[in-house]
Amino acid sequence: MIRLSLLFMLTLITLKMAAQQQYDTFFKDSTLRMDLILAGNDKSMQVYLHAYSKSEGWAGRRHNLSNQQNLGHGLAVMRDAATGEIIYSTVCSALFSEWQATDEAKEVQKAFQQVLLFPFPKKKAFITIEFRGYDGVYHTYLQAPVDPSDLLIRPKSEMTYKKEVIQKNGSSAQCVDIVYVAEGYTEGEQDKFFADARRLNADLFAHEPFDKLKNKFNVTAVAAVSSESGTSHPGKGVWKNTLLDAHYDTFYSSRYLMSNQMIAINDAIAGVPYEQIIVVVNTPVYGGGGIFNSHTMISADDKLSNIIVVHEFAHAFAGLADEYYYPGDVMENFYNKKIEPWEENITTLVDFDRKWKDMLPKDAAIPTKLTENSKLTLGVYEGGGYATLGIYRPMQDCRMNTNKAKTFCPVCQRALIRVVDYLTK
Ligand SMILES: [Zn+2]
Repeated sequence: MIRLSLLFMLTLITLKMAAQQQYDTFFKDSTLRMDLILAGNDKSMQVYLHAYSKSEGWAGRRHNLSNQQNLGHGLAVMRDAATGEIIYSTVCSALFSEWQATDEAKEVQKAFQQVLLFPFPKKKAFITIEFRGYDGVYHTYLQAPVDPSDLLIRPKSEMTYKKEVIQKNGSSAQCVDIVYVAEGYTEGEQDKFFADARRLNADLFAHEPFDKLKNKFNVTAVAAVSSESGTSHPGKGVWKNTLLDAHYDTFYSSRYLMSNQMIAINDAIAGVPYEQIIVVVNTPVYGGGGIFNSHTMISADDKLSNIIVVHEFAHAFAGLADEYYYPGDVMENFYNKKIEPWEENITTLVDFDRKWKDMLPKDAAIPTKLTENSKLTLGVYEGGGYATLGIYRPMQDCRMNTNKAKTFCPVCQRALIRVVDYLTK
């Protein structure tokens, strides 16, 4: 037994060394930030390179470099220019893609900001940005060269905002780095922000499965300063001058609290190691949002913020789908029911083998009828992903469904654990 475990340890160490070697071959210990503009309407999309910048240190993974999990609406791939070899890939999901499903997108062309982070290449490279169409197939929208000696790559230094390390469990390579950033907090409200960030973080890590994974996360809070306190609430005629331009009524949906200023958000935390951003908005009104591999936004003081932060972070961290639906929802066709969606916690049954079939008993009824007895049983229940028909969820209730749910369903828990493993192992 001892010999076996020693062998296992040695294999693990060898694998880690090989991954680090691969990282060192292609990358410096710094970050290349790619700012993009995504523009278009309901039917078309254009992607433009806005700017590159550089900051010291790389907080992302140093293994699984070119290996991605087939998650996300979009994909950003970095290739070595000389050989064409894929040297890094990452998820590229955007608020713009959600907007494309709105009525407004049928009427007008709009532009949205998007920010992506890459390890800084040692040699010339190129990045392709791909997005899935409604048919689920990736299409390339941009191919951009990267020359590491390009004199227009702006160095970004750390902002002078006050910071607090909330938890530190290891190096950036070993841990997922989360940064909480303040929005709508004035200089005199920085202590309130740190208290809010600590409280929301405690709520997040009190929740399954994050409670068991806490030692895999580093957490820092950055008290970015706004000129005015609070946030904009257009539906109530309230506009505030805040650093990150967050507001309710995103896409005319009253509770959707978001910002299109991804460049300002990333500027506020430049130089701080981060892989996940949680923007804490200084407001007591219910609201928030989460975009996969982009950011989470959360109202600080609503009585349900302790739950919403977990739900929205699950969107941003693991790309989990909403499991809720309403009859007559305008988003009924958000998902194409003729293909299997990439999100791990919903299925159209087109390719259920890829989903949670392995977690069900062999004789399980698929789909599963909802009865009093099946309330807490894993199954395949119709209704989810905003649609009453044709999309199925794993359990009657889940953190990705209602605020009343006690926790995530087992399928969502597994998906969250998989992402933590992918980023840290
Ligand atoms: Zn779930």
